[in-house]
Amino acid sequence: MFKITAVPALQDNYIWVIHNDLHAAAVDPGEAAPVLAFLDAHGLQLEAILCTHRHADHIGGIAELRGVYNVPVHGRRHPGNPHITRDLHEGDRLRLDTFGIVFDILEIPGHLDDHIAFIAPQTLFCGDVMFGGGCGRNFEGTLAQLHHSLQRLAALPDDTRVYTAHEYTAANLRFALACEPDNPDIRQRITETRLLRAASLPTLPSTIAQEKATNPFLRCAQPEIIQTLQRRGLTDTSELAVFTALREWRDHF
Ligand SMILES: [Zn+2]
Repeated sequence: MFKITAVPALQDNYIWVIHNDLHAAAVDPGEAAPVLAFLDAHGLQLEAILCTHRHADHIGGIAELRGVYNVPVHGRRHPGNPHITRDLHEGDRLRLDTFGIVFDILEIPGHLDDHIAFIAPQTLFCGDVMFGGGCGRNFEGTLAQLHHSLQRLAALPDDTRVYTAHEYTAANLRFALACEPDNPDIRQRITETRLLRAASLPTLPSTIAQEKATNPFLRCAQPEIIQTLQRRGLTDTSELAVFTALREWRDHF
């Protein structure tokens, strides 16, 4: 058995730590100090590092952590990420025997080219591709790739917990409500989010079911979203055109 705990880092990152009573694995450690403090406070030994993509706020703590714990780093190798010791590709499996977890690896480009997802039963680590109520920016690759990556994640079972890497939920839901003012699930999630943040608690993980009900980037065929965008001048109502219009609007929202 294992638990997964959010360790807040940097401005608004979460480093997710998988742990039992003795051992831990850290996902996207953008800085080392909060992970080391968490391990110390709980008497845990670091066993592995998982890396979804190479942005500095996801890999910035790896060198320092490996100075203390010489552990493997599982992720997609890239010239901009010198830390990876095991290169993972679409269809690979990653076993973490300590925790009895087997992850399936999905390649999910569209934020960065080297972005991968780690998927186990009821568990998704998706880095910066999906956020609570939103999605990542398109820095590399195409918006069609980002859309496709999100659709693959949305096809996971409804009860899959979504461990994404930033606390952006409140801002994303304000945008979601502008897209779909009549969606009661968005209003309910805004209320829940406000209560959690008022108590300084993470709004994550969410679930795939919750994201499908409230995240506009997974709802590009919804009539209310299409109508909202048409009022803003959209003419092409294909899913990709809707997705593209949403992503562009979100960038300036
Ligand atoms: Zn990123």
